[in-house]
Order: sequence, then structure tokens, then C-alpha cells
Amino acid sequence: MAGPSGTGRYHRATMIVDVADCLFCGIAAGQIPATIVLDGKRTLAFRDINPQAPTHVLVISRDHYPDVAALAEAGDGLLDELVGSARAVAAAEGVEDSGYRVVFNTGADGGQTVGHVHAHVLGGRPMTWPPG
Ligand code: AMP
Ligand code: ZN
Repeated sequence: MAGPSGTGRYHRATMIVDVADCLFCGIAAGQIPATIVLDGKRTLAFRDINPQAPTHVLVISRDHYPDVAALAEAGDGLLDELVGSARAVAAAEGVEDSGYRVVFNTGADGGQTVGHVHAHVLGGRPMTWPPG
């Protein structure tokens, strides 16, 4: 079920995503506009359209995986690369030293609304805990 983009549908408890209709696949393909922060070979970082902090950037894999668990299952070092890209975003945004938060919302109760794996990189203000 977990696999890179191309064909197939990915079923999660509350989410059915057809890759052809995936918003973030569209951004990765350049078909949907986004403000790109870092453009990598296997990952892409762009600004969240509804920022929750002075820095709010999303880091995605260019290939489609429905969530971070599927990305981890796939192996291949891509999850490492994605988290490395999150660190590079924090450095580029000037928040690496002050600190930042990396969040993978996963599934319905996790608050995931887009079924293509993405790390939120949030910074530029103190984060609170627990999250809402
Ligand atoms: P999540 O709720 O964790 O799945 O996060 C999805 C995020 O995608 C939300 O923070 C949205 O604001 C963001 N988002 C939705 N559409 C776009 C878009 N077209 N460009 C950039 N960010 C988007
Ligand atoms: Zn996708």
C-alpha cells in the first residue's frame, strides 16, 4: 500500500487520496503555485498558505507517500533526507539557533488534512506545550 507516486490509491482511516488529485503532488510537479523555500532532488520545501508562526514551512517528499509512517516503511533514507531538509529550512529561515518545531500530523486525530507526507517547520516565536 505504501509506495511512491505513479499509480494507486492510498486508504487511511478517514482519507482516500488519489495521487492524480493530490494537492502536494501538484505542487511538486509545478502545476499548483507555491512559494518555494528549498528545492531538493527528492524533497521540496514551501511556505504554508495559512502560517501559524513567523516561519511556517512545509517539507514534502517529491514522491507520494500518504504519511510519515508510510515514508518510514519505504526506507531508502528518504525520511532522513526530509528531516535534514527541515533542519536546512530552519537554518535558511534563521531559526536554527533560537529553536523550532518539526511536526508530522498523522491521521485524523493527529490533525492531518493533506494526505501527502509533510513536515511542518515552525519557528520565530516560542512554541507552547501541549499542542491543541
Ligand atoms: P496538515 O493539516 O498537517 O495535513 O497540514 C496541511 C497544511 O497544508 C496546512 O497547514 C495548510 O495550511 C497547508 N496548505 C493547504 N493548502 C496549501 C497550499 N496550496 N499551499 C501551501 N500550503 C497549503
Ligand atoms: Zn501526493
